[in-house]
Amino acid sequence: MIRRKTKKVETLINLFEQKNEALSVVDLTNRLSTQMNKTTVYRILDRLEQSGVVHSFNDSNGLRWYAKCNGCSATKHTDTHPHFQCTDCGTIECLSMEIPVPSISNRQINSVEIMLKGTCERCIS
Ligand SMILES: [Zn+2]
Ligand SMILES: [Zn+2]
Ligand SMILES: [Zn+2]
Repeated sequence: MIRRKTKKVETLINLFEQKNEALSVVDLTNRLSTQMNKTTVYRILDRLEQSGVVHSFNDSNGLRWYAKCNGCSATKHTDTHPHFQCTDCGTIECLSMEIPVPSISNRQINSVEIMLKGTCERCIS
């Protein structure tokens, strides 16, 4: 964990605590534009990821997204869950299910990124 939490770091963490959805860097920097500049947002996100607080992934457009971790530590990210993107509203959520990671001979797997696409709960009804 981060030893000393500054007010800015707390502000960012609070955004992730509010809902169980991933936030894109564009969304994050827009929301925080009155409180801190982009460079600060990127730096804090980096630190939070290294501390096991958030994890990140790219969508098919190359946009970076961040979401809250569950049970990760500074030494190891254990996020092997898939993500679900709604093609109607664009939101991405973490799915709380484990995806078995295959072991491949002579290869070392360091991260797993699975993006499922479809229609979310809100848009389907
Ligand atoms: Zn993680
Ligand atoms: Zn949707
Ligand atoms: Zn996730």
